[in-house]
Amino acid sequence: MKGVLFVISGPSGVGKGTLVKEILNERNDLKLSVSCTTRAPRQGETDGKEYFFIDREEFVSRIRENGFLEYDEHFGNYYGTPRSYVERQLKDNSVILEIDVVGALNCKRLMPEAVLIMIAPPSIEELSRRLESRGSESDETIKKRLERVKYELGQKQLYDYVIVNDALNEAKIRLIEVIDTEINKRNEGE
Ligand code: 5GP
Repeated sequence: MKGVLFVISGPSGVGKGTLVKEILNERNDLKLSVSCTTRAPRQGETDGKEYFFIDREEFVSRIRENGFLEYDEHFGNYYGTPRSYVERQLKDNSVILEIDVVGALNCKRLMPEAVLIMIAPPSIEELSRRLESRGSESDETIKKRLERVKYELGQKQLYDYVIVNDALNEAKIRLIEVIDTEINKRNEGE
């Protein structure tokens, strides 16, 4: 295996999607793994882009075939990382998974060589301000999200790296630095 598996997590609203997108645009040695889910596509989502949208029956049959590196249930729907895509890509490239804390910790258990990176907000107060300024969610939903954020940030000592996204450009430079360090380490070790 030549590449490194990077698992990137972080609370919603922290800007991890933007960071990952910008890095993928610049680097063709990094591949994003697209997860499978049984939830319905949201407006604007395309099959194969945000997720592979499959039905429950197919998901369960893939579980039986050991088709997922890890999978979990969120809000009544299954989400899973396709094993074959990740293993195939890792022969030549590094792979990024953008998944939640529980999924990330499961990945680390299954593949201890995976590198876990958490993108953290400068503070809970700042994240709360960002979520409110989006204006897209009710106070109740924001409160629930913040509870979840506290749990997620509480797991950060289990991560290999924590990058605080205070200014996007600095966080991006740091993320690239971490990725390059780990890829070089892997290459030197071979
Ligand atoms: P959403 O439905 O909002 O896109 O995602 C719901 C949750 O599923 C998020 O916390 C997201 O990180 C998580 N998720 C997405 N893909 C995967 C996956 O492949 N595995 C796991 N364990 N969680 C995932």
